[in-house]
Amino acid sequence: MMATLNSPELSVVVPMYNEEPNVDELCSRLVAVLEKLGRTFEIVVVNDGSKDHTLEALLKWFKKYPDYFRILDFNSNFGHHNALWAGFEHVRGEIIFTMDADLQNPPEELPKLLEKIDEGYDYVGSWRLGKRQDAKWRDWASKLDNKLRAKVSDICMRDQGCMLRAYRRSIVDAVVRCGDYTAFIPALAYKFASRYTEVGMKHAPRFKGETKYGLYYLLRTHFDLMTGFSLVPLQWFTLISLGLSVASLLWMLYLLGRRLWSGPEADGIFTLFAILFFMISVAMVGIGLIGEYVGRMFQILQNRPRYILKNLYESASKQEDK
Ligand code: UDP
Ligand code: MG
Repeated sequence: MMATLNSPELSVVVPMYNEEPNVDELCSRLVAVLEKLGRTFEIVVVNDGSKDHTLEALLKWFKKYPDYFRILDFNSNFGHHNALWAGFEHVRGEIIFTMDADLQNPPEELPKLLEKIDEGYDYVGSWRLGKRQDAKWRDWASKLDNKLRAKVSDICMRDQGCMLRAYRRSIVDAVVRCGDYTAFIPALAYKFASRYTEVGMKHAPRFKGETKYGLYYLLRTHFDLMTGFSLVPLQWFTLISLGLSVASLLWMLYLLGRRLWSGPEADGIFTLFAILFFMISVAMVGIGLIGEYVGRMFQILQNRPRYILKNLYESASKQEDK
């Protein structure tokens, strides 16, 4: 089928939050890479409520290349993955790429992903070649996280943090149909892919600006990954609690025996306290864990919109015809 303006072969989704200093560099390099590929394409940029002049910088590119760019402008900040989600809901290409705006993954690496899709894979992830260009603690945190996730769920991704990825349309459509609020799109897509592969990508430090993610955000995302994709954490908790119950029972029998044998004794009360505190902390972890799952259901029940679109900039020939 001949690709028309309204159904390009390739779509590239780029979420942006306060990326004004990166817009020109990213857009010029991305356009150069895509033009070289010789396929029809669109670049769907999502402005996630930026407080700087990201939108103005983008609109310059839109004016220059109205047929290349489509800009979704949110009315406030809804977060990286909701921005990706919005991009997925609007793409028209058959092959969809996602990438960050900070040029940590150079756009010049994009053809590597396309090659794999052309080989027949329906989802192509990537991992960062060489040393990571982020803070050291993030490297350790993501290694630990990868190990844990592989244990609790069946998601085996070498590097979940690398956002330069390619998806076939069917995978993107499946993600968009999902009603849950799992924030982590790469993992969700993994569930639906029938042929997944990964390629090594060059990795650079952020071009300009600062990372939007602190430790707190990363911790929350990692929790999300653990509880969003499996019940194993709950099952582990039950197992640990069962083990502790058996140990407590034996301990109680032992103390009862001592009570009968050698009468009342007050010594060792601190040991008892220590054990008690430990048990209570285990119980609290359990409550927190259950809370995670309940919270997830709560979000689904609320069914709030993931984002609110203020404006959609696209050329008249590309206007939504759905
Ligand atoms: N981003 C976004 N909304 C946010 C935070 C980030 O759209 O609320 C975008 C950001 O502009 C960038 C990408 O998500 O294109 C990744 O963000 P960042 O580079 O800060 O994260 P890191 O690479 O440090 O994990
Ligand atoms: Mg980055």
